[in-house]
Amino acid sequence: MVPLVYDEGSNNKAQTRRSLLVYAIICQKCKKAYIGETKRMLAERFREHLRYVKSVMVIPPLAQHFCLPQYCTDDMKVSVLRECNTNTEIKRKEMEIIFKMVTLHPQGINIDFSYNV
Ligand SMILES: [Zn+2]
Repeated sequence: MVPLVYDEGSNNKAQTRRSLLVYAIICQKCKKAYIGETKRMLAERFREHLRYVKSVMVIPPLAQHFCLPQYCTDDMKVSVLRECNTNTEIKRKEMEIIFKMVTLHPQGINIDFSYNV
């Protein structure tokens, strides 16, 4: 299900440059997943997630999860799930995968489909 893995610092550049992606961030501790979509480079989007998680103002669901005392950002593993061509496709795929992988709270980290920070 999660064939491609992006590690910060690895030299898998091609993959991180793709845009219109549906991606997963898997918590390495509890294996819960967060599904997101981005029209930018995944590396850039992931850095944004990291900034939120490390910031003190923690509201987004993903940041909340990884700000729990027992977690740290080292537990975040991000993977590309799908490459998409259009804005409608990316939204549809994201929803589809959220259902398929059962990543809505409390089984996963997604809160709903619109609050995608
Ligand atoms: Zn977790």
